[in-house]
Amino acid sequence: MIAEVQEWLIEWYRREARDLPWRRTHDPYHILVSEVMLQQTQVERVIPYYERFLARFPTIESLAQASPAEVIRLWGGLGYNRRAVYLWRAARAVMEQYGGSIPKDRRELQRLPGIGRYTAGAVLCFGFGEPVAFWDTNIARVLTRIFLGPNARPTSQELDQLAERVLPVDRAYEWNQALMELGARVCLARRPRCGDCPVHELCRSVGTIGKPRRRSEQFTGSRRYYRGRIIEALRGRWGGMRLDELGWAVREDYTPAHRAWLERLVTDLAREGLVEAAEERGEYVVRLPGGGETGDSCGEWDERAAGGVKVGPHSA
Ligand code: SF4
Repeated sequence: MIAEVQEWLIEWYRREARDLPWRRTHDPYHILVSEVMLQQTQVERVIPYYERFLARFPTIESLAQASPAEVIRLWGGLGYNRRAVYLWRAARAVMEQYGGSIPKDRRELQRLPGIGRYTAGAVLCFGFGEPVAFWDTNIARVLTRIFLGPNARPTSQELDQLAERVLPVDRAYEWNQALMELGARVCLARRPRCGDCPVHELCRSVGTIGKPRRRSEQFTGSRRYYRGRIIEALRGRWGGMRLDELGWAVREDYTPAHRAWLERLVTDLAREGLVEAAEERGEYVVRLPGGGETGDSCGEWDERAAGGVKVGPHSA
């Protein structure tokens, strides 16, 4: 089944892929800029900013030499300006530590400011042509639906393993792009267009997601329902969960746009002493009271963390 999904999806991607500016380059710096911009922001909005940004800062050296104020100004209406500052800091670190060459190593990439596991994977795959697996909310949703089914709620570690298991190492670029394309255009969070999906004959979730709710199901989706889901998701996760990881565990249509909603729920639960939320290594981690230390997976800030939350010790 894996081989067929790979074939059909890549074939569809070759036929249907949108012509996006970052798909015309393999320059790791340009890929890095595009990936940071695409965190939290839709493709159509990113394109003019991406082109303007690279016209002004065509090389990582030119970005490192700029002032952060200028970088933020150019970032302007894209929002989440913290991304611009992290990108600028990463450029300076690459100049100082690697002589201007972006490192081709996942660990070293993840040590750069603002670069998490996903972004490092994207730079390695799309910039350096390395056969690496990675996932964000969209890719995770697509992989889970196709290979695990509509009720699966895999952990981060399980998603890492799944992404690696199904990666065609000789066509990693097209595979990862195809997963993103499918998640953005067909396998949508709320209402997947299964009828138009190139892998609907193989998918374990085909036709099961996005049906209208019956009246008796109205508790599903209520505030009380999601409070219970949060507690349930944290049960047994002694290391806690990053805010977006938690969001994805409690609702299948979760996107960064739901973050403010999730923050409010977590803040209320924290006030009532039902959960703890604290910043750890640049990320907010939520756990049941007395949950213990977090694991390595909590060390990123990238798209699954940017945006800030108002919970934990810095929330006053
Ligand atoms: S068949 Fe439906 S649920 Fe499965 S991947 Fe395609 S769009 Fe998503």
